Amino acid sequence: MWWKCSNVSIFDVQHQWPAVRGLQRAMAVGRLSHALIFHGPEGVGKEMLASALARTLVCPSPRSVEPGEVPGIGEWSGPLQDACGECPDCVRSKAGTHPDVHLIHRQLKQLHPDAEVRARKGLTLSIDVIREFVIKPAGLRPMAGQMKVFIIREAELLAAPAQNALLKTLEEPPPATCIILLTHALDRLFPTIRSRCQPVGFRLLPHEFVAAKLLDLQPDLTPTRAGALAQFANGSLAHAVQYAEDGLDEFNSRLITVVQSLVSATAPAVAKHIADEAKGLGERYVERDREITETEAQRRAIKALLLLLASWYRDVMLTHLGAVDRLANAGSVEALQQAAAAIPLESAADAVQHITTAERQLDLNANVQLILDTLAITLARLGRAA
Ligand SMILES: [Zn+2]
Repeated sequence: MWWKCSNVSIFDVQHQWPAVRGLQRAMAVGRLSHALIFHGPEGVGKEMLASALARTLVCPSPRSVEPGEVPGIGEWSGPLQDACGECPDCVRSKAGTHPDVHLIHRQLKQLHPDAEVRARKGLTLSIDVIREFVIKPAGLRPMAGQMKVFIIREAELLAAPAQNALLKTLEEPPPATCIILLTHALDRLFPTIRSRCQPVGFRLLPHEFVAAKLLDLQPDLTPTRAGALAQFANGSLAHAVQYAEDGLDEFNSRLITVVQSLVSATAPAVAKHIADEAKGLGERYVERDREITETEAQRRAIKALLLLLASWYRDVMLTHLGAVDRLANAGSVEALQQAAAAIPLESAADAVQHITTAERQLDLNANVQLILDTLAITLARLGRAA
């Protein structure tokens, strides 16, 4: 989403005020670390804030902002700063063409000078990409501004040799360099990397905000659909956008119809439905990201469908508890009441647990068909226990 990120101000990043305040505080006392880790859920504004910070760092004359102009900042007494937005550096950074702002991502390997590197699948951030696009330019003087900023997207995908190579740069940082790692899985980075970076935490976005933003970005959606997609996305705007593109709510309608007929006799058909639908959904993933294999795409698609399945059973629980204002399937109240009549509260809770376990097994590369068959039979049994 780089193109959407490059022209926002630091203060346009909503609902991440602790992160914004932490960075402003560090800048105010001239103690912004040369290495930062922005960590937290996917799609909540990490890249947006990193991009806005980069623009401020390469701007030679950042403007100072009055706290009164930024109501969300809360209690604040020191100065606040932001890119001026007008100087030649800002013009370029807004256009996404500033030579000292480097966005590092795994697809960059396609621009690597070595044909062998270009030919590989880019599922991880390889040492070749890190050497060529981070370590090499980090050792040079800034081309235009006063700082070089490297934003490393999906840092959890840094391969072990890449992490080791990066560690040396973090230990002895070249002058005028700031490296910002973005990750939703902090634990996949070496402790040695983490200990050399200043952590900046991000949190999930409110559902109403995600639904409203989704409508802004995709005005063709109805508010009801946007609301449902926001519920599935559970606080991640990027997920909501992706789910809208994939038509995940349509997959959900079909899945729910099948699940409503779930008894032992139909369990194999339900398992097959999920496997078949995952093929269609997986194809969309491959279209979006040419680097992933078909197997990986299908695994991710099954996980997405299991998430929908878990949402359904969570809604059955909420129906039992009378908390219908929090339903993901807000349009299916009647069907949920029928389901709640057949599935006791404890069984619905067990169902969510079993689905979560199945999801974890998928990560361990267990036999997919076996996982789905077992899950469908278990869910059928929980339904019958009524
Ligand atoms: Zn400027």
